[in-house]
Amino acid sequence: MKLDNNFFKKFDGNFSANVKLSNYSWFNLGGNAEYFYKAKNKTQLIEFLSEAKKINLKTTILGAGSNTLFRDQGIKGVVIKLGNEFSYTKMINKEILMAGAATIDRKVADFAKENNLGNLEFLSCIPGSIGGAIIMNSGCYENDISKVLISIQAIDINKLSEIEIKKEDIKFSYRGTNLPDDLIIISAKFKGTISKKELIEKKQSYFIEKKKLSQPSQIKTCGSTFKNSSKDKKAWMLIKESGCENFKEGDAMISQKHCNFFVNNGNAKSADIENLINKVKKKVYEKTGVNLELEIKIVGE
Ligand SMILES: Cc1cc2nc3c(=O)[nH]c(=O)nc-3n(C[C@H](O)[C@H](O)[C@H](O)COP(=O)(O)OP(=O)(O)OC[C@H]3O[C@@H](n4cnc5c(N)ncnc54)[C@H](O)[C@@H]3O)c2cc1C
Repeated sequence: MKLDNNFFKKFDGNFSANVKLSNYSWFNLGGNAEYFYKAKNKTQLIEFLSEAKKINLKTTILGAGSNTLFRDQGIKGVVIKLGNEFSYTKMINKEILMAGAATIDRKVADFAKENNLGNLEFLSCIPGSIGGAIIMNSGCYENDISKVLISIQAIDINKLSEIEIKKEDIKFSYRGTNLPDDLIIISAKFKGTISKKELIEKKQSYFIEKKKLSQPSQIKTCGSTFKNSSKDKKAWMLIKESGCENFKEGDAMISQKHCNFFVNNGNAKSADIENLINKVKKKVYEKTGVNLELEIKIVGE
């Protein structure tokens, strides 16, 4: 879709065309976004959505890209990312904190620690943003977002207004929610338990070390590719049992440390990762009868 210059002028500095998406995904892969908008603040975001709606511009919301594979042909319409003003933390009272949706999970965990607020330590192990963590109901070590969330504040893309949704009105599942696609989460409130900084620090370090031992780091990946279908038969077990550990497609491979982590070894294409996914899925189904479900999100043409 060709946009006139006024659109660019109106959102000057925050709106551009043909933006390389590989810079925005942990896989470091993907084609271009037809348009890319970095929202300055809430008011500008609503104004932008209103203009986009008038011309039927398709919108895709992105967090930190740690769970997203962009296809090689890129994305039509506009990819929206929340800017710096959506990255903040503040205490509401001794047990409740609020975080902007663009805040990196680790920062929220550290902020909670500084404020003697426990039970949010698991967030230090998840490399995404608060918006993405809520949509994915992210978690680890017996905890997840659904257990600590109080409410979300979001922009409804259709009504062009801010709404608040209480945790009780959201249906959470394992690595997912029933929140509709036409919401952009802008912030959230979380409840922790009053604790001591030293205790929180210990728990946080324990989790971080535990993760380092079981999962690869410093690689181009989006973490677990498939959801665990059951506690006894985790996805990595099924992949191993089916003999897929050494499967490769181009420069896409499977981590030797954790076989549910798929990796861009440097020169892979998104299609290589997707082909590897399909190859593993097929083999696991043939060998075990389990139909693995994707945890990562694949978007684009
Ligand atoms: C090394 C590694 C380890 C990982 N370990 C874990 C783990 O232990 N546990 C776990 O659960 N996950 C893990 N993950 C996966 C990933 O980090 C989480 O799913 C994370 O919460 C995704 O957040 P994000 O901001 O990167 O989301 P993105 O990948 O940017 O987006 C994910 C989804 O959320 C939507 N979204 C993002 N922001 C918003 C918003 N503001 N409003 C509305 N929708 C939005 C996107 O449209 C997309 O559908 C790991 C990933 C990596 C790379």
